Amino acid sequence: MKLDGKTAIVTGSTSGIGLGIATGFAKAGANVVINGFGDPVEIDAIVKDLQGHGGSVVYNGADMSKPDQISVMMNDMEGEFGAIDILVNNAGIQLVEPVENFPPERWDSIIAINMNSSFHTVRAAVPGMKKRGWGRIINIASAHGLIASPYKSAYVTAKHGVVGLTKTVALEVAQDGITCNAICPGYVLTPLVEKQIPDTAKARGITEEEVKRDVMLASQWTKKFVTVEQLAGVALFLCSDAAENITGIALPVDGGWTAS
Ligand code: NAD
Repeated sequence: MKLDGKTAIVTGSTSGIGLGIATGFAKAGANVVINGFGDPVEIDAIVKDLQGHGGSVVYNGADMSKPDQISVMMNDMEGEFGAIDILVNNAGIQLVEPVENFPPERWDSIIAINMNSSFHTVRAAVPGMKKRGWGRIINIASAHGLIASPYKSAYVTAKHGVVGLTKTVALEVAQDGITCNAICPGYVLTPLVEKQIPDTAKARGITEEEVKRDVMLASQWTKKFVTVEQLAGVALFLCSDAAENITGIALPVDGGWTAS
């Protein structure tokens, strides 16, 4: 799969799934915009590492909880590369708490980063994609965009919202050469998941090993964590010509979790 001459923005790509997808796109020859937080030295190393595959790789540190910063990023990157052909909305955070203890300000930031940011990037990207008659929008939702688990009220709400946005945008741009799809991963061992293991253990009163075995992989029938390389492969497929008629889907990559 070659993406020479295409430009992709991957939000939240300094770590985990976003970094895996950005790596896949860079290796396919695309120009890639890396976004997210982290140590500047490590981010610099990521950018250097991804250069050299033919495309240009840059970093933009816009905060996905801030609509004005999103707007500036989208505008600047379209200006720099002349196009945003592929948009991957991936930035996300998590908090595991019973609903009655859920801090309202954490609710607001999860909804802002995990859901609202996708609206702000999509509305900025669509006019250029329409003008050029080609675009790929990929929203990294979650199995939690399709089903719920306890203690993740804000996350499950945001991810269901992302699936709704995906379907709506897909219909609106269907005749413009643009597809809009959601990928719904099961559990992937990234920093986001590592962090919630102790919280889930506390909320459920079980050990961390029991969280992995009895909570996370209990739902995944393959008994394997999904990998970031597998998700990069799925994202690349959604950018291919073969996927031209795939739009508006919420594709589970979850080891059979949502089939049961
Ligand atoms: P991660 O913590 O490894 O990475 C999250 C990325 O988002 C980082 O680059 C971080 O800097 C960035 N980010 C966080 N807040 C931001 C903000 N305000 N502005 C810009 N960037 C911000 O997490 P991950 O597991 O790779 O998760 C990536 C996405 O995949 C999330 O949307 C998550 O909900 C989704 N997801 C993850 C899993 C999993 O099991 N790991 C499963 C399903 C869905």
